[in-house]
Amino acid sequence: MKKLAILGSTGSIGTQTLEIVRENADLQVVALAAGTNVELLEKQVREFKPRLVCMQTESACKDLATRLQDMRVEIVCGMDGLIQIAEMEESEILVTAIVGMIGIRPTIAAIKKKKDIALANKETLVTAGHIIMPLAAEMGVSILPVDSEHSAIFQSMQGEKKERIHKLLITASGGPFRGRTKEQLANIQVEDALKHPNWAMGSKITIDSATLVNKGLEVMEAKWLFDMDLDRIQVVVHPQSIIHSMVEYVDGGIIAQLGTPDMKLPIQYALFYPDRRPMAGKRVDFYELGSITFEKPDMETFTGLKLAMRAAGEGGSMPTVFNAANEKAVSLFLNRKIRFLQIPEIIEMCMDSHKRIANPDVNQILTAEQEAYDLIRTKFE
Ligand code: NDP
Repeated sequence: MKKLAILGSTGSIGTQTLEIVRENADLQVVALAAGTNVELLEKQVREFKPRLVCMQTESACKDLATRLQDMRVEIVCGMDGLIQIAEMEESEILVTAIVGMIGIRPTIAAIKKKKDIALANKETLVTAGHIIMPLAAEMGVSILPVDSEHSAIFQSMQGEKKERIHKLLITASGGPFRGRTKEQLANIQVEDALKHPNWAMGSKITIDSATLVNKGLEVMEAKWLFDMDLDRIQVVVHPQSIIHSMVEYVDGGIIAQLGTPDMKLPIQYALFYPDRRPMAGKRVDFYELGSITFEKPDMETFTGLKLAMRAAGEGGSMPTVFNAANEKAVSLFLNRKIRFLQIPEIIEMCMDSHKRIANPDVNQILTAEQEAYDLIRTKFE
């Protein structure tokens, strides 16, 4: 029996993780955490019977406690609750399916208690990769990628020597606005940006895919996960999302992982690694597919990717500022407070006004995050 704790169980990755638990009798859920979706968390607790659950706010916790009076479950709250889940004795693997930098402290707490991490929460590595990866190595903990591109790279590295890798090729669908000009992006509405051509995901990452910020975050995530220099990570636009990413080796050979766009495969691969389990679902039919295509990303129109590469190159606290500014700007866009093209403008404004710290600790990362939020608040709220 493998015991899992899931942070973000009511979200897109969280619910798909629970579908995998349903299909595999040797997985057991020992803890769940969500933000404010009390109704769904109640259903999940009744079905999966975890010992510990966490919600973001006191009021959500109280509501959940009232609903679950007939159940034996401990309810904890906020960041302290997330850390309690991360550290709990009986869990073996922590699935970080929470969204945003809030995942940093629980992830570090879990690693210190020697829990393996199935990592979806890329913002954690983008901002604190320099702390998390060495800590995981020191504690002998595996950071198993859930993001489909990173899982594809990980799968394409099995049985190979890391020193023989020439470069990583991260594929990108290009998002819903691929091929458009800046002028055509001026009046994009929230509903348009939430329509991803290939993947059904949470709203924040869907907007990040439309701006190509997501691809930039993925480059930074790959740099830390696979300890790879930035100049050996290349983004390739591949609109059909059949090749999930590739690894080119020193002899020119390229190994790729392919499949239909379905997050359950990378989630399941992380949970059972190094095993593969059967999985139902649509398979790639090459006769039906016919052809797949590739392009260079348009970084002049989608400046979010260009800014991500700048933040990654500068390193230190700059990726935190890039990420925090993006998180805030995306939330303003989703609340219809700013226009689509203001997302990269806000990121650039925050990066330009930030005094970079070379090797920030967690407190400095969280301060840099707060400073970016404050700057945006003074201008846009
Ligand atoms: P969603 O927005 O769908 O879900 C986020 C989850 O986090 C929800 O369960 C939400 O709870 C919970 N949450 C938010 N704030 C808190 C909090 N303060 N305390 C506890 N729980 C909280 O996001 P996704 O599933 O799309 O993404 C999760 C992560 O995975 C992100 O980092 C994303 O970049 C990454 N990822 C996602 C992919 C996808 O296909 N969706 C693919 C690859 C990576 P509530 O429902 O109550 O708000």
